[in-house]
Amino acid sequence: MNPAGDVDLVLRGGLCVTCDEAGTVTAGDVYVDGGRIVAVGGPARGARRSVDASGTIVLPGLVNLHDHLRDMTPGLDAGEGLKLDEMLRFYWRLNEAAGAVEYETMAAYSTARLLASGVTTVVDHVYPFHRHGLDAATIAGYEATGIRWYLARGLMTRGYDPISEPLAEGFERVRSLLADGTPAERIMLAPVSFRQAAPTDYAAAREFASTYGLRLYTHVAETAAEVHNIEAEHGCRPIEFLDRLGFCGPDVTLVHCVELLASTGSHVVHCPSNHMKLAKGFTRVLDLLDAGVNVGLGIDQMADMFCEMRQEVLLQAIRNEDPGAVSPAVALRMATANGAKAVGLGGQLGEISVGALADLICVSARGLSIEPILDPAWSVVHRAGGSDVRHVIVDGRVVMEDREFAKLDAEALHRQAMDVIDGYFSKANIARTRIEL
Ligand SMILES: [Zn+2]
Repeated sequence: MNPAGDVDLVLRGGLCVTCDEAGTVTAGDVYVDGGRIVAVGGPARGARRSVDASGTIVLPGLVNLHDHLRDMTPGLDAGEGLKLDEMLRFYWRLNEAAGAVEYETMAAYSTARLLASGVTTVVDHVYPFHRHGLDAATIAGYEATGIRWYLARGLMTRGYDPISEPLAEGFERVRSLLADGTPAERIMLAPVSFRQAAPTDYAAAREFASTYGLRLYTHVAETAAEVHNIEAEHGCRPIEFLDRLGFCGPDVTLVHCVELLASTGSHVVHCPSNHMKLAKGFTRVLDLLDAGVNVGLGIDQMADMFCEMRQEVLLQAIRNEDPGAVSPAVALRMATANGAKAVGLGGQLGEISVGALADLICVSARGLSIEPILDPAWSVVHRAGGSDVRHVIVDGRVVMEDREFAKLDAEALHRQAMDVIDGYFSKANIARTRIEL
């Protein structure tokens, strides 16, 4: 705050859904200073910058806990109709053709797209690392857009030799990233799955993570077939097996989890659209939440977080035969406060409260598509979409205002990304053509 008492920024005139435990809804200006929220409502103050939030619902920025941003075919369209294992083989061939330019461009393009749909924090599960320079290229892509990023740094040591990376090489590359100044809290060490990493890799990852202060992350219990295979080979279910390997704990995030989880303190990410799209197993989110497990949401290459919140409510309603299984307010917390806990920022991110990090979005709440509004959480979950996001603030900085990026040349980035995709299909010798509009 400067001597005159002015704060950095105010969002004026919005209706805040705070996403705190009480689910508070309050009309009031949000004041931001030094990257943190310093007041919600209360007496008017001066601010060096003002953003008009009237006619919007103000939310904490959405936290996308699982995605694969390097992938060149958003929406999985090139693999449409394939089963998971077939689709992965298809992707691995595509990945084989990718280098630093592809990784950097797609990290930038995809994070720009996420920001424009209200995601201010992403955990990007990145692999393979079959060439030098891919870690740094990926981070450069994130930095270009200003998203709050977490690199779930994949370790893929088996599955498809041309893109597998020896474990020691993976560890060496992570050490280099840390030596070059990448903060340890932004890296999660992420053996990809039992399909792509050996059990000993998980134990080694735990040891490495403890030495360097990294969190851990992995795909596990993704399908019934995986549960069956691990049981047949190791005599227990995948998450128990992970726990026996010493992998689980409160610093760990597990993606998918179609089996129930004992109380390891680990966080769970559910990606409802991706589970339905690829006919994966059903994650018993209601039971996990009832058991006190922290569950967040991930887009996992599908549309946006609004869609994921809505799918979660609908999927849990039909599978539990209970229309109130997961309420819109709970889905909204999964997409905000719960996501923040899983990146180690519980209580500091993912809610609108004094002292929290100032990641905020304003969602248009006027007009035919959304009014009347009785319960803002209901309207956000059931009626809004990513393109309704009007303003985006990350770390107290206005990244997008009235749907225009403040600094990023989105058109140039779009052109660059489409060029990369065209080149990528031809490099991978895959007969698909992007349709130019
Ligand atoms: Zn995934």
